[in-house]
Amino acid sequence: MSNHFSLTGRRALVTGANSGIGQAIAVGLSQAGAEVLCAGRRASDHTIDLITAAGGTASSILVDFADPMAGQTLFAGQDIDILINNAGIIRRADAVDFTEEDWDAVMDVNLKALFFTTQAFAREALRAGRGGAVVNIASLLSFQGGIRVPSYTAAKHGVAGLTKLLANEWAEKGINVNAVAPGYIETKNTEALRADPDRNAAILERIPAGRWGQASDIAGAAVYLCTPAAGYIHGATLNVDGGWLAR
Ligand code: NAP
Repeated sequence: MSNHFSLTGRRALVTGANSGIGQAIAVGLSQAGAEVLCAGRRASDHTIDLITAAGGTASSILVDFADPMAGQTLFAGQDIDILINNAGIIRRADAVDFTEEDWDAVMDVNLKALFFTTQAFAREALRAGRGGAVVNIASLLSFQGGIRVPSYTAAKHGVAGLTKLLANEWAEKGINVNAVAPGYIETKNTEALRADPDRNAAILERIPAGRWGQASDIAGAAVYLCTPAAGYIHGATLNVDGGWLAR
């Protein structure tokens, strides 16, 4: 019987694979057998070292999603089966002070680039007739309002919506589109929250698991959604949040 949890022979592209959640997912995909292309605005040397030291295969592609159409050229001739849309930024300010620049920067990287990169992936996969899997990294702020992060919340709500829309279009064509919504994870993205003693205590007090998540906590869910075992899952957003949304 074939192993429905194996990604052997698959090629995966992970955006923002040089750090945090993207790095953990890249390592997880490799552990499941995939070859990994690490796409980011900086080389993913450390991620590639981690993967190759464990016997896997990985390479780096430079792409800066500050140009939200930059992903359009990533897939031609690459035979990519799996796309992880992980790259993301956050800007914090009160709504009354929020600038157009902070609005556009976050929407471009977190939402517009995600859509047009996924479009390019699907065009290539459908042309080649091979199907595939897309996992979008959403957020608790795909469901909740958040505090002082208007463009991030708008973008992440958009990610959950696009996940469903794209699943509707591509499920019958063999492309699984799903999302993972991380809770509060210890990465660069949350440094400011953890440095604020009041916010840190309030967040910890509300997490049923009683701890911040680690990037590796997200990797298992993302990898699973790429495997044949998840073949009938379309348009889902899987919360990996230590129970936060269950409260
Ligand atoms: P992170 O360590 O800051 O990772 C973000 C990644 O995105 C980095 O690799 C970053 O590259 C890359 N990136 C940012 N702007 C880019 C651009 N213009 N072009 C290409 N790559 C770019 O933070 P993280 O927490 O792992 O975030 C990963 C994803 O998880 C994001 O989508 C974030 O919204 C989401 N998320 C995180 C949490 C959390 O609690 N940490 C919760 C929910 C959702 P650089 O290293 O060059 O900046």
